[in-house]
Amino acid sequence: MSIPSSPSNLAIMIECPHRAELPRPEPAPLSETCPECAAAGSHPVQLRLCLTCGHVGCCDSSPHRHATTHYEQTGHAVMRSFEPGESWRWCYVDQRLLP
Ligand SMILES: [Zn+2]
Ligand SMILES: [Zn+2]
Ligand SMILES: [Zn+2]
Repeated sequence: MSIPSSPSNLAIMIECPHRAELPRPEPAPLSETCPECAAAGSHPVQLRLCLTCGHVGCCDSSPHRHATTHYEQTGHAVMRSFEPGESWRWCYVDQRLLP
């Protein structure tokens, strides 16, 4: 058996295609907190900012998971942490963190 001369390691190089579709600069946050939680009198644990439209929603550690609901309703794939000092991004479609 011989080793292929051109190993197909492209699979691990594939970029999240949704990242390239994001508006630049990123949209301004539509609110300071999760509006659905504010309306319901609930307290979000952590906030996430939709990088497609600026929607602010609460994370999966919160009781209502409005950020995930927002993705399911809109298909907006990429959000980032809206917490001070955090800048990681997450793609719901690819289920991975983005650089
Ligand atoms: Zn993606
Ligand atoms: Zn919420
Ligand atoms: Zn959105």
